[in-house]
Amino acid sequence: MKKLRRELEAADAVVVGAGAGLSTSAGFTYSGERFRRLFPDFIEKYHFSDMYSGGFYPFETLEEHWAYWSRYILCNRYTDAPKPVYQKLLALVENKDYFVLTTNVDHQFQKAGFDKERLFYTQGDYGLWQCGKPCCQKTYDNEETVRRMVEEQREMRVPAELVPRCPVCGRPMTMNLRSDNTFVEDEGWHRAAERYSEFLRRCEGMRVMFLELGVGANTPGIIKYPFWRMTYQNPKAVYACVNLGEAFVPKEIKDRSICIDGDIGEVLGCL
Ligand SMILES: [Zn+2]
Repeated sequence: MKKLRRELEAADAVVVGAGAGLSTSAGFTYSGERFRRLFPDFIEKYHFSDMYSGGFYPFETLEEHWAYWSRYILCNRYTDAPKPVYQKLLALVENKDYFVLTTNVDHQFQKAGFDKERLFYTQGDYGLWQCGKPCCQKTYDNEETVRRMVEEQREMRVPAELVPRCPVCGRPMTMNLRSDNTFVEDEGWHRAAERYSEFLRRCEGMRVMFLELGVGANTPGIIKYPFWRMTYQNPKAVYACVNLGEAFVPKEIKDRSICIDGDIGEVLGCL
């Protein structure tokens, strides 16, 4: 951790790559007590083991689908994180030239006060809906409707008039989350992608730290592999990986890497 602190201080720029483990450390757990407290009726009826897998269930009606999803969105997107892990991270990087690349979709970086011009959410956002087809490359804020859905649902159904439909074609809307090739990359997504590319171009040959936090094995092609490759290509770059149970690095960049197997919140706290 001393080495990580020293390298962070010395870095000209920091590229943060954040995966699910960061939000888990902040208390956004998808199973256990939190799940049982928020979804007792769905657990009783469908025997879901956790919030995430319940999200894939093919509910018979849209009213029931949105009763489930509105609670899911409210607790993971519009409720503050139980622990201030994102705030700790911000304190470490806010005086540096930084950029965040994340597969998380829970909006916690903005909520913690990160500069939204320095964020790239590659996989969507719980706070956005898109056309189910999709007929156009647009997304829609869902906060007001989601809050009403949670308040007005009865017996695991939202009122029919709250089921969201595309304002352009009238089809049912879906979550703006990447699961297949119907994922809408709207204007904001493309602008963020461009800002991220520019940041990386600017950092070429500089003393950069690639700080990877809680990135699992589901989608290593988005953060982990590019971080390894960019570290390899830039002799001044340093790669750091903080991950509970999965902190490792290829031998080619081992001498310029720092791996910490531990809880992200605790590690950031010590730094
Ligand atoms: Zn449409």
